Amino acid sequence: MEVKTSLLDNMIGVGDMVLLEPLSEESFINNLKKRFDHSEIYTYIGSVVVSINPYRSLPIYSPEKVEEYRNRNFYELSPHIFALSDEAYRSLRDQDKDQCILITGESGAGKTEASKLVMSYVAAVCGKGAEVNQVKEQLLQSNPVLEAFGNAKTVRNDNSSRFGKYMDIEFDFKGDPLGGVISNYLLEKSRVVKQPRGERNFHIFYQILSGATEDMLNKLKLQRDFSRYNYLSLDSSRVNGVDDAVNFRTVRNAMQIVGFMDHETQSIFEVIAAVLKLGNIEFKPESRVNGLDESKIKDKNEICELTGIDQSVLERAFSFRTLEAKQEKVSTTLNVAQAYYARDALAKNLYSRLFSWLVTRINESIKVIFLYKVMGVLDIYGFEIFEDNSFEQFIINYCNEKLQQIFIELTLKEEQEEYIREDIEWTHIEYFNNAIICDLIENTGILAMLDEECLRPGTVTDDTFLEKLNQVCATHQHFESRMSKCSRFLNDTSLPHSCFRIQHYAGKVMYQVEGFVDKNNDLLYRDLSQAMWKANHSLIKALFPEGNPAKINLKRPPTAGSQFKASVATLMKNLQTKNPNYIRCIKPNDKKAAHIFSDALVCHQVRYLGLLENVRVRRAGYAFRQPYELCLERYKMLCKQTWPHWRGPLFKLEDLRKQRLEDLATLIQKIYRGWKYRTRFLLMKKSQIVI
Ligand code: ATP
Ligand code: MG
Repeated sequence: MEVKTSLLDNMIGVGDMVLLEPLSEESFINNLKKRFDHSEIYTYIGSVVVSINPYRSLPIYSPEKVEEYRNRNFYELSPHIFALSDEAYRSLRDQDKDQCILITGESGAGKTEASKLVMSYVAAVCGKGAEVNQVKEQLLQSNPVLEAFGNAKTVRNDNSSRFGKYMDIEFDFKGDPLGGVISNYLLEKSRVVKQPRGERNFHIFYQILSGATEDMLNKLKLQRDFSRYNYLSLDSSRVNGVDDAVNFRTVRNAMQIVGFMDHETQSIFEVIAAVLKLGNIEFKPESRVNGLDESKIKDKNEICELTGIDQSVLERAFSFRTLEAKQEKVSTTLNVAQAYYARDALAKNLYSRLFSWLVTRINESIKVIFLYKVMGVLDIYGFEIFEDNSFEQFIINYCNEKLQQIFIELTLKEEQEEYIREDIEWTHIEYFNNAIICDLIENTGILAMLDEECLRPGTVTDDTFLEKLNQVCATHQHFESRMSKCSRFLNDTSLPHSCFRIQHYAGKVMYQVEGFVDKNNDLLYRDLSQAMWKANHSLIKALFPEGNPAKINLKRPPTAGSQFKASVATLMKNLQTKNPNYIRCIKPNDKKAAHIFSDALVCHQVRYLGLLENVRVRRAGYAFRQPYELCLERYKMLCKQTWPHWRGPLFKLEDLRKQRLEDLATLIQKIYRGWKYRTRFLLMKKSQIVI
């Protein structure tokens, strides 16, 4: 029997990399490949789940599978995302430990799918009854809504998340779900007005045009044909295997379940239609006022009828810009180029504010008054390298650096430091700590320079920002540019003068500096927000509160970069208060194709994710640990030395003589003889018992 099992293991590879012999990069990749070829997409590194995107639907998520993994020990069955979900849920329910599920990996690696699998598993195993089921449904159905508005087809992924999402699911003391809170992070709003070649705008635009009834389209003054809209790229408006019309029905249904009223849904779609119509506004130069070009809207646009904005108010907002200082107001005309710029800025703002409003609205539906236990699920945009990388990629990649940092802190650094602290013999395992890159971006580095430049009076351009960067960061190991005199890259012709390159933990990315200042400033001319606030459309009005003249605030709003940095810092703090569960997603190929495993691509990800180091630390370390109190509480009845003397937490630990602990240790060791890891039982000097 034993021989058979080991043979089977040989065929499909080893389920836990900790048991892999011998351990090397090659054997690690081969093991992943062997398993992938046998449709085993999950592999453990101790309690970490490594997941490889199969790019095809596998029959491993059925209700029967849920039952199989329910209430089972983590290592009992073959590796599965359900085992991690079950473990996290049970320790939340039974041990009152708040959990977070951290899902990382590059764009297209399967993070969003993984987050949905975790949520659906937890929903399937927690609580029963009509009320609980309604909460579950609302939580689950928030996904299709946010995906429709926040995901898009990119060259890397047909359903790429263009925003970061963190969702806290809240449970009562029995472990029944009560509701949740969603936090969203910086939507890639530039996509609304322009998409790179081969990519699409956010799904919802195509879904409405494909799936709405004729009557609905008439009401929204829309035409079914994508090509009528400038903001929808023409070359890739259909995605293979995706039916926008069917998805539209799914989204509408989801909106209903989440609790959107019909009039709200109608208003949301009106805003979407307004964005499309904004994109079709064209301008022409008109009479010169004071020798300056003034732009005029070419044709009447239906946007005003649709949204109750006064035509003359909108026209004026696209022709003039008012600058307000303390007591003064100065009006300048906008030329045609400036009018187009203003139009696009308005469209981006309208859409991204709508998105944030949607999140707030969903939160209203699922909010909870009392907090008991929380499971957070983090699904952000993955690390990405495109041909042209701009401010958006910079922000996305920065966020990924921070997540890698938290992984390093908690699994590689903290783990090793703990052994040293506890005086346990330990040989240090080397790993790359990306704190140095986080520092380059957030502390003395790039974001700070960008903000300084954006807030500086005088002429500020992307070039002046780059100059500043070159002065400050030129000697940084992870920063590359050709502009600075002392640059090591003066002769590197692959690095244009208008770019800088960062050596991220996951690879080198060259950023085009064009647009950084503007996107970080994220300013909308006040005339436009005032025009929106005057709209006879309650949603649009609500999206532009600063347009209310009574609430004029001359203070500059915080920059996009500093807002993002602050929200990421809050997120990191929040995650650190919870027990982390890691899912490390890997993309097997660049073709979005099933059955293809590219060794080189996987190897690159395994390296930068630090997975081998992760295995080494796990192998050298102790697989199971518990604070004394919890361990004794759990096993007290096993040993005559601790039972019936042990009286729960009130019983002072110091009162229990060492001998008694050691007796207990021997017993536990006997029970865990079949344990996969070393069964050495060790008493940590300070706070923990380690097996
Ligand atoms: P991004 O950072 O761009 O948002 P992501 O890591 O969230 O990327 P997903 O959208 O989850 O990537 O996955 C990309 C695609 O891969 C999915 O749309 C789906 O087709 C496929 N996929 C991912 N995981 C699985 C899975 N477990 N089973 C089947 N298909 C999957
Ligand atoms: Mg995603």
